[in-house]
Amino acid sequence: MLPIIVLIGRTNVGKSTLFNILTKKRNALVSSLSGLTRDRNYEFCYLEKNKKFILTDTAGFDFESKIIKTQAHKQTLIAMKEADLILFVVNAREGILPGEYEILKKIRKYQKESFLIINKIDGIKEVEKIHEFYSLGFKKNIKISASHNQGINHFINKYLTPWIEFEFKKIKPKKTIEKKEKIENLPIKIAFIGKPNVGKSTLINSLIMQNRIITSNIPGTTLDTISVPIKYHNKNYILIDTAGASKKKRKKNKIEQISIIKTFKTIEKTDITLLIIDAKNEQNKICNQNLLLINMIEKFGKPLIIIINKWDLLNFSEQKKFKELINYKLKNAFFSKIHFISALTKQGIFEIFQLVKNIYHQFTNKKINTSKLMQIMKNAIKKHQPPMINGRRIKLKYIHLGSTNPFKIIIHGNQTRYLSLAYKKYLKNFFHEALKINGIPMKMKFKETK
Ligand code: GDP
Ligand code: GDP
Repeated sequence: MLPIIVLIGRTNVGKSTLFNILTKKRNALVSSLSGLTRDRNYEFCYLEKNKKFILTDTAGFDFESKIIKTQAHKQTLIAMKEADLILFVVNAREGILPGEYEILKKIRKYQKESFLIINKIDGIKEVEKIHEFYSLGFKKNIKISASHNQGINHFINKYLTPWIEFEFKKIKPKKTIEKKEKIENLPIKIAFIGKPNVGKSTLINSLIMQNRIITSNIPGTTLDTISVPIKYHNKNYILIDTAGASKKKRKKNKIEQISIIKTFKTIEKTDITLLIIDAKNEQNKICNQNLLLINMIEKFGKPLIIIINKWDLLNFSEQKKFKELINYKLKNAFFSKIHFISALTKQGIFEIFQLVKNIYHQFTNKKINTSKLMQIMKNAIKKHQPPMINGRRIKLKYIHLGSTNPFKIIIHGNQTRYLSLAYKKYLKNFFHEALKINGIPMKMKFKETK
C-alpha cells in the first residue's frame, strides 16, 4: 500500500506551489490524458528508486467564505481522514489566523501524523511571527519558501524521505508465488469501480444471479455486502463493490461522496479493475474523474477493463457515436480493454469472466524472453529511429523483462534520458502490439550504459 500524503491549509498559503515542486521530482514517463490537467489533485511521487507515495492537494479551507460546509471543505476533511501524513501549510508572513486553529483541531481529532510547513519565508527576517507557529505544538516545524526553492531539499532529505522509508519498513513484503499452478488456483479479485448509479451493484447481482446486493434508482439505498465470492466455469473470483460502504454512508449523510483515495486503495489491493461507465450519462463526454482513474490505474500498472454499461439505453446511431467518442477520449488508455454491456438485460456480462481470466493469466501463458524482446526492440528502432542529441544518436542497446506484475521492461542504452515522451509512447505502443498484450499497462524503465 502506498503511503498517502495530503497538503492542508488555508487558500493561498502555497499548497499548489509545493505540490508542483514535489510532483516534478517524479520520473517523467506519465501519460497525460486529455482533459485531466485542470483537476489533477492526486499525483504519484517518486523520491528515489521505489519510494513512491501519493500526494494529494486539497482545495483548502476558505475561512472567509460564508459557506463553511462547502464541497471543497468536505473533500478536504475526507482527504485528511485518509492520509497517512498531513502536511499543514501556513503562511509565515501572516502568522497564525483563527481559521488555522480549526484545522489544528481536525488534525488532533483524527490523530494523524503531521508536519507544520511554514511557507513564504523568503525575504523576511527571523521574525516573531515564525516563533508564534511553534506554539501550535508540532514536533516538526519546517521552514520553506516554495516559490523561491528555499529549504525544499532540506525538507525532502531530512523529513520526507525518512518518514517514507519508515512507512515502507512497515509494509510486509508480498509473498511471491512461484508455481504457475498456484496462481491459477487463486481467486481473481475484481474491483468494480465507478461513479454512483452507473450500475455496479446491478452488474454484480446479474453476475451472481441473485439479489444479494439490492439496487434501486434512488441514490442512497442499501447494501451490506461489499465482497462477493463466486465460482464461474470452475474458476474462483471475488467481486468487490467499492460503492458498498459509500452507499451506506450516502444514506446516512444524504450526500453523494465518492472517495478517490478509497478507490485507489481498492485498486491497489485487487488483481484487476472494472471501471464502469454509464453510457447514457456520459454520452457526450467522458468525465474527468474517470479519466483520472484510468490514468492512475495505468500508473499502478494494474490490469483494467473499461465497462460501458446501460448499452440498452442507446439506439444504434448513439452507440456508433459513443464508440467514436471513446476512441478519441481514451486514445491514451490504449492498454485497456473496452467492453460494452447491459447489466440490466445481461447482454455481454458473462463474457467479462473470460476477459478477466485472459487478461489476468496473460503472463502465465506467455513466454516473454529476452531474445523476443530484443527482436521487437530492433524492429521498433528500424521502423522509427530514436532522435539525435548533440550530434549523437540516442542508442537503445539491450532490453530485458523487469517484472510481470506489474509488467515492466527495462531498456539499457545511451542518452536515454533525452528520449521524448512521444518516442517512449511509440515504443510502448509497439511493444503492446507485438506482444499482443491486452488490458495491462506496460511500464518502461531506461538505464544508462557506460
Ligand atoms: P494554495 O491556494 O495554498 O494552493 O496557494 P498557491 O500555491 O496557489 O500560492 C498562492 C500564492 O502564493 C501564489 O501567488 C504563489 O506564487 C505564492 N507563493 C507560494 N509559495 C510562496 C513562497 O514561498 N513565497 C512567496 N513569496 N510566495 C509564494
Ligand atoms: P451503483 O450505484 O453503481 O451500484 O448503481 P446501481 O446498480 O444501483 O444502478 C443504478 C440504477 O441504474 C438502477 O436503477 C439500475 O436499475 C439502473 N441500471 C443499472 N444497469 C443498467 C443497465 O444496463 N441498463 C439500464 N437501462 N439500467 C441500468
